[in-house]
Amino acid sequence: MVTKTNVDMETIVSLCKRRGFVYPAAEIYGGFANAWDYGPLGAELRRNIRNTWWRAMVQERDDVVGLEATVITSPKVWVASGHVSTFNDPMVDCKNCQSRFRADHIDLHGPCPECGATGQFTEPRMFNMMLKTYVGPVQTEENVAYLRPETAQGMFINFENVLTSTRKKLPFGVAQNGRSFRNEITPGNFIFRTREFEQMEMEYFVKPGEHHAAYDYWRRERFRWYLRIGLKPENLRYLVHPKEALAHYSIGTTDIEYLYPIGWQELEGIASRSDYDLRQHAELSGKPLSFFDEERKEHIVPYVVEPAAGVDRTFLALLCDAYDEETLENGEKRTVLHFHPTIAPVTVAILPLSRNEKLTPTARRVWELVRPHFVTQYDDSQAIGRRYRRQDEIGTPWCVTVDFQTVEEDQAVTIRERDSMTQERVPIERLLTALRERYDAAVVQSAAFAAAYESELPGE
Ligand code: ATP
Repeated sequence: MVTKTNVDMETIVSLCKRRGFVYPAAEIYGGFANAWDYGPLGAELRRNIRNTWWRAMVQERDDVVGLEATVITSPKVWVASGHVSTFNDPMVDCKNCQSRFRADHIDLHGPCPECGATGQFTEPRMFNMMLKTYVGPVQTEENVAYLRPETAQGMFINFENVLTSTRKKLPFGVAQNGRSFRNEITPGNFIFRTREFEQMEMEYFVKPGEHHAAYDYWRRERFRWYLRIGLKPENLRYLVHPKEALAHYSIGTTDIEYLYPIGWQELEGIASRSDYDLRQHAELSGKPLSFFDEERKEHIVPYVVEPAAGVDRTFLALLCDAYDEETLENGEKRTVLHFHPTIAPVTVAILPLSRNEKLTPTARRVWELVRPHFVTQYDDSQAIGRRYRRQDEIGTPWCVTVDFQTVEEDQAVTIRERDSMTQERVPIERLLTALRERYDAAVVQSAAFAAAYESELPGE
């Protein structure tokens, strides 16, 4: 079998549209630039990303709890966090072609990336990236509110609530997942950079002095999570931000980068945020935000380490990583997504050999058996070979085939593996167990691989 894994962005975009992962937003109105809607398979894939993240970050741990805060909150939050005054990107325009760029993304002395003109850039101007709205019917300054540019602040402003309602002790974390909004100057590259996107963030509160160890721990732990969900280690790396480029709250930031078709780019950022946010909110709200250390009988303002990931960038990384075009021994070609079973939008496809009336009742019964336990698809259209290819192309790990032998002889079905294409016959009564064993084995295998993987942390 010959495989070709280097995939370009157009191939991914077109597969996503054709198979129902991602559609251009508002396409019937000519589209809405840089916005994307997720189709049936995309919606499932995103759920799997969120759920596996939530399991690893909250449910599998006893030191992290979850939270769901509002998208629109008091504007005071964004004053305290520094977003109103400093969440700015430098923007330049090309006077020749009127294209707009982020000044830190291009060489200001070089040619314009759009028209090639040199010496035509305007002076950089600061541009606040928060999306504004008005709350209530009157559009006055007092009613201005912002759509959150990150989910993190929800954790800081609820620090006291979480502490008193859960009686957590340091170190502990609060995690949340949800939509965030940024008026990006140069969105693009499909779903890589959009103005509306989804984040998965966790604020881990520690005693000052313990933040270095926590920073290292979470950098390693987050790298491992990507291995658990099936990304290849050679397509992941760390990038440490130089001190002079750190965000206003940060005393250290490392990105986990993925090798996208557009090159190495940020997939997740892990930031050591000091006590900046809690102190800012304590000052502006007048409410002390601290932890009472029983041993030392003193109030501590915890330091924070934050792993901040993106659903959309994980989605894109998973698609690029899983994509393969294979030439089989018989010369046939197949496109296959090698998704990890925890990530695949469809886990099991039930395929009667043909739409023969003898097969349908048993095939339906098998489907009924499997449906409550796995995400399934039932497909009885066209030739079986084509249906296998369709399932390969959307990354379904297992196809279950019902044939004449099933109904006439042995009440057994065939499980076909996506990657090896091997087939095994199992009695219907053992089917659920057989599928569960395969699923669990894949979970255990990637978890063991990730746990044993010692990613080398870069120096500061
Ligand atoms: P970048 O430098 O690419 O603009 P950032 O460093 O500003 O990203 P963070 O503030 O660290 O990003 O946000 C955490 C995560 O949220 C990112 O790693 C990314 O996965 C996701 N994210 C941030 N901005 C966007 C966006 N505009 N579109 C899609 N995902 C985003």
